This record gives sequence, C-alpha cells and structure tokens, in this order.
Amino acid sequence: MMRLTPPVEIPPTAGLPIEWRDLMAFSGDLAQQLSDWLLIPRPLLTCSGTAALVIALRVLQRRYPDRTTLIVPAYTCPLVALAAFYCPPLTVVPCDLAAGGINMDNRQLALLCDQHTLAVVVTHLAGRVADVDSALHIAGAVGAAVIEDAAQGMGAQDGGNSVGLKGDVGFFSMAMGKGLTCAEGGVLFSRDPALQQALTQTCQQTLPFSLGWELRRIAELWGYWAFYRPGGLYWVYGRPLRAALAKGDPVAAVGDDFTVRSIPLHRLGHYRRRVAASALRRLPGFLLRGKQRALDRVALLSQLPGVSVINDNPGGQGIWPFILVLMPDAAARDAVMASLWTAGLGVTRLFIHALGDYPAVLPLLAPLSPTPCADDFAARSLSITNSPWLTDRLFSEVMLRLRAALT
Ligand SMILES: *Cc1c(COP(=O)(O)O)cnc(C)c1O
Repeated sequence: MMRLTPPVEIPPTAGLPIEWRDLMAFSGDLAQQLSDWLLIPRPLLTCSGTAALVIALRVLQRRYPDRTTLIVPAYTCPLVALAAFYCPPLTVVPCDLAAGGINMDNRQLALLCDQHTLAVVVTHLAGRVADVDSALHIAGAVGAAVIEDAAQGMGAQDGGNSVGLKGDVGFFSMAMGKGLTCAEGGVLFSRDPALQQALTQTCQQTLPFSLGWELRRIAELWGYWAFYRPGGLYWVYGRPLRAALAKGDPVAAVGDDFTVRSIPLHRLGHYRRRVAASALRRLPGFLLRGKQRALDRVALLSQLPGVSVINDNPGGQGIWPFILVLMPDAAARDAVMASLWTAGLGVTRLFIHALGDYPAVLPLLAPLSPTPCADDFAARSLSITNSPWLTDRLFSEVMLRLRAALT
C-alpha cells in the first residue's frame, strides 16, 4: 500500500528547539545565566543583534563625535550595514575578505582605516572564530574601536575565552535559527567597565517598551515552538523558499531582503527572556553534540576534490550552526544548489551577495572599492545545516549530490 509521507524540511541551521516547559517558565535570569556560562560581564539584552550594534555605535559616536565611518567585512549580513541608518552621519566602508576565507584582507583594512574610522567590525561568521588580533592592531593604530559581531557565534571561544571579549564591544543574536532564540533578541557586552556602563545607559534611554512588537514576537516564539520540527518547517520555511526560488528571487529565498524598516528598536520583554533562560540550560550540551557531529562531517567534506570548508582561526574553538563550504567554482556551486536547494536537506546559501549588491544597503555605503574576494565568496559558498535532524543517512545523500556536482 502506498503511504503518504508528510513533506519533511530540515532547517538550514541548528537552532535549539523550544520545549513546552520553556514557554511556561516563571523564573530565570537570562542575563545572569549568560554571564555565568560564558564568563562575560552581565550583558545588556536588546530586541535584536542589530539593535545591539546600533547601541554600541551610538555609544562610540558620543565618545568620538568626529569619526564618521564604520568598516565592515564586504560579505556579511546586510543588517550590519543597515544599522548605520540609525546612527547618522555614519557611513559604511566594506573591506574585502582575504581570499578563500571569512577574515578581512588586512592590507586593504590598513588602507581603509584612518582618523575618520569610528570602528572596525570583525565577524565570526558561521560560528567560526575570525581574526580579531589583526583588526585590534590595525584599528588601534588609528584610534578606532573593534566590534566583534558574534551574531552567529554564541558559545564560540577565542583563546579560551568567549568571543566578544577581545574587541571593545561584542554582541550575539537570538534571532530564530541562531542557536538560542527568543524569536528575536540581542546580547551586548564590553570587557571595558566604562564602555559597559555607557552601553547600559544608552540601552535604557533608547529602547522603549513596545506592546505591539512584544506581542508580535511572543506570537512568533510560540510559532517557533509549534513549527520548528521537520514536519512543520515545510510550511513556514520550505514553501516560502520554493516560492521565492520559483520567482527567481534568491535574496527573498534566504531572507536577505532587509530594509531599514527591518530594524525596530524596543525593549526585550521579560516573558521572552524567561523562555530563553529556560532553553539556555540545554544549549551547552546541544552545542557540544553539534560540534562532534560537525567535525566528523567536515572531515568527509574536506576530502572532496577542490572543496574547502571554512574553519576557525588558530586559537579558536567555534560553534557549528551549519558548515560553510567553498566549492571550486561558481558553476559547481550552482549545480549543487540546483540539486539540493529545494531537497529539504538544509542546504542553502548564506548571504546571496557582497554588500555592494544590495540596493537597500547602497545609500549607506561610502564610495566602493572593488571587493573581488567577497564577490568570489558569494559566488562559490554554500551552507550545510548542522541540525541534529540531518541524520547520517540524510547527510550521505548530501555528500552523494555534492560529488555528482563535482564531475
Ligand atoms: C543575524 C546577524 C546579525 C543581526 O542579528 P539580528 O538579531 O538578526 O538583528 C548581524 N550579523 C550577522 C553576521 C548575522 O548573521
């Protein structure tokens, strides 16, 4: 007899599932628990990672009012550049990547840094630990700050400490799919007590409570509980993905279609903090199992001819929300995507473009220098989920199709 199986969709990242008892949590101090786990100063909690960045930038602007540019990696989340809209007159200067990886090109970074530079953003993309030391050295020479964008890296360690502690400011994201989630939230901290104090004040002054946003996010968080499972994700993730791809809109397919209106600034409500605090108790074990799974698979992927897997810089111990893979050329990457993007196996692309190719970002950019390595990264990269729902059997299917695209 034929059996109808429901459509199954593995999520593109290893988000920590929410349980019923998390939604029922009556106590829990998220900021304190994060501080105790990560050994960071008691962090500020914001409505998003981007809002955390906005707060950090405003604090730095007050300190250095004459500095008006922000240097960011040319391949990163468009929201990072859009944050500058809320910090006039700040403009964004994309710095090219070093070839074949997520670090910035230090030679270009040194050329771009000057007395107008407010800060340099170092991004621990894909949970991989990026090179903060070089940025500290280069930015320090012109008196600019370093912000660690660890939106995808909560739990990653650099030199034995949490990421975010080497730079002047660090932040994590609690958006859906980034590990721990409260539907949308941010975690902001500084190792420097004076900066931490200023961040606290600016948070209190600039993030008002918004009943509308809070109710919307609570509904989204309950939706995450209800649908974040292989049988549910088809409806809320797989179907819209396929519809966007069918329309030839990969930017919408990966949810990159942000505008400045995608960045509300409000307080993170107490109920959602408690839900995340309850889920947080499962996160360290979840990340550890994820790391073991990912390292086995990274070893297999690295054997494919011409394929490279992005790894941590020396001294880094990252986390593995997904595995970021570079194919030998754009044609091979596109062949893989043609075979796997709509297969429900959690293979997708990270950001579709380098920053200069997003129309919504363009007005915030300083005149562009070419960013050939970031363009190349956008053309050759793909991501493979590290969700526990991608079983070894399903992963071997991914390997088969990767091999097929390489011949
Ligand atoms: C998601 C993300 C952000 C923004 O975080 P939100 O919580 O979505 O605002 C910033 N940087 C990177 C690298 C990200 O992936």
